[in-house]
Amino acid sequence: MGNSIKVVFATGNAHKLKEVNEISKGRDVEFILPKGEFDPEETGETFAQNSIIKAKEAAKISNHISLADDSGLCVDALDGEPGIYSARYDTTPQKRIDKLLKNLAHTDNRLAKFVCAMTLVDKDGNILFKTTGECHGQIAYKQSGINGFGYDPVFIPDGYNNTIAELSEKEKNRISHRSIALNKVLDFIQKTLK
Ligand code: IMP
Repeated sequence: MGNSIKVVFATGNAHKLKEVNEISKGRDVEFILPKGEFDPEETGETFAQNSIIKAKEAAKISNHISLADDSGLCVDALDGEPGIYSARYDTTPQKRIDKLLKNLAHTDNRLAKFVCAMTLVDKDGNILFKTTGECHGQIAYKQSGINGFGYDPVFIPDGYNNTIAELSEKEKNRISHRSIALNKVLDFIQKTLK
């Protein structure tokens, strides 16, 4: 990647970093972690607001162009929960899945979507580009699969019979909320910053 642009990706989640670099292959953009520990307080009320907070914080500590993703799972029968609280719904990934399935035990309305908001800022924290991506589907009645992370073992995307955790990484990256948002960011970077 001799000619590639390096962009700080505002996350402490190594899995997300791996996904965005996989999605960006062949696009001449390389995402790197912020300098030092990265765990800003997510005080926003929307995915978009939290992605702005994270992007600005990453730019501040890294003094570098930065992209943030704030994402989560919104479940119709739970009035959109866990939403922006997806990472904080319970204390471990498995407990979060168990709590979700328990809270849905009373209903056959399994409609849900993954949402991803992304914000790109310059090294001074000025917003360059904002976008979102969504992946619609259903919550399974029981978990299956070991790929991916978070709620992947209980999310069946529209058009599939399997959970995302049963799909290959390549297939997830073709349809995911993160890849839909990221491809728009990559188009912007390639058009504007190259
Ligand atoms: P964030 O790091 O504050 O954006 O938290 C996002 C949380 O939403 C993650 O910790 C997961 O619980 C969930 N989440 C977001 N994207 C995905 C995904 O692609 N698969 C499964 N869970 C996800």
